[in-house]
Amino acid sequence: MLSRTFGCVRVVWNRTLAWRHARYHGEGVKTNFTQANAYLTAMKTGDELAWPNEVPSVPLQQAVRHQQVAFTDFFAGRAGYPRYKSRTARQSAEYTRSAFRYRDGRLFLAKTDAPPAFVWSWPDIDPATINPTTVTVSRDPCGRWYVSFAVDADDPERAPATGAAVGVDVGVRDFAVTSGGEKIANPRHLARRERNLARCQRRMARKRRGSNNRAKAKAARAHRKVRASRTDFLHRTSARLVRDHDVIVIEDLAVRNMVRNRSLAKAISDCGWGTFRRMLEYKAARHGRHLIVIDRWYPSSKTCSACGHLLAGLSLSTRTWQCPSCGTRHDRDVNAAKNILAAGLAVSACGGDVRHSGSSRVQSPVKQEPRRVTAGIPVLQSGE
Ligand SMILES: [Zn+2]
Repeated sequence: MLSRTFGCVRVVWNRTLAWRHARYHGEGVKTNFTQANAYLTAMKTGDELAWPNEVPSVPLQQAVRHQQVAFTDFFAGRAGYPRYKSRTARQSAEYTRSAFRYRDGRLFLAKTDAPPAFVWSWPDIDPATINPTTVTVSRDPCGRWYVSFAVDADDPERAPATGAAVGVDVGVRDFAVTSGGEKIANPRHLARRERNLARCQRRMARKRRGSNNRAKAKAARAHRKVRASRTDFLHRTSARLVRDHDVIVIEDLAVRNMVRNRSLAKAISDCGWGTFRRMLEYKAARHGRHLIVIDRWYPSSKTCSACGHLLAGLSLSTRTWQCPSCGTRHDRDVNAAKNILAAGLAVSACGGDVRHSGSSRVQSPVKQEPRRVTAGIPVLQSGE
């Protein structure tokens, strides 16, 4: 039943998406939730599709609802164009309160006759005590099943003030380097798993179609492990930075990647910096910390953090250098992180009206957005 529900969710998503797409490009009209929901009803009563009536209707409605949110985000510039769902990707179905019952740690889903057995992964919380508002059942490409519960919870206690501020520079050699001189290395096991994944994928590419399934499953498993390890690393690292500092300053990588070369941009995106930044954003907001994102690229690596002297050039292979003006010896990345911190703090001190000058970014309406810094930073120099 759950597999069938996934299939119906996927078909509803894809057909509604195609219909919406055709309406927009053919008739030039946007589709709202009421219209999309009416289309779902028409799909369910239409002769060609009898199956959606066998599965619970709530997950299908939730799919339409999620698609509406996806389009709202797309039109607001917060997300890319919604994509079709593939049968080989992760499958999921969301149940709201009218479609499940939860009693004493047992979950009863609509149109199923027995509660699914699940392994509880929160040792500190008694599953019998939670009161879920929504339940999501999913299956990853390797065939592992998950059930996740959304619950209302109080805001966590604000973390105690530390009096510390930190600038963080993105590395390629290291994952990140802080203004305090700490180098956060890319985890070794991740590199090993990535090599393993690449091997699986090469092997898969050589196989003929038909004899492919085992290789595919193996590649999917390797991929899941890489993703899980990376997410774990990003969670630990972002949690530690937020716990230990009141103010965290980072550079906007979208800007930085445009400036730098493409292979470097790829290496940086492989490190999961976008995910890391989102984690920093929500964790900082949750714990009352201040995250400052420097909007404009500036030569953080080749400016002396001690005296402000600007080098004419600094090759990527130069790891340490001595300032010709004040004589300070610098580690390249630590110096950059110090400059990032100084730029963030300088503008933070100017108060709130730092947005007006020169920023061409669309302001997102999301609350508690990190403050963007657009003033007080040296103008872009050619290359780094
Ligand atoms: Zn200097």
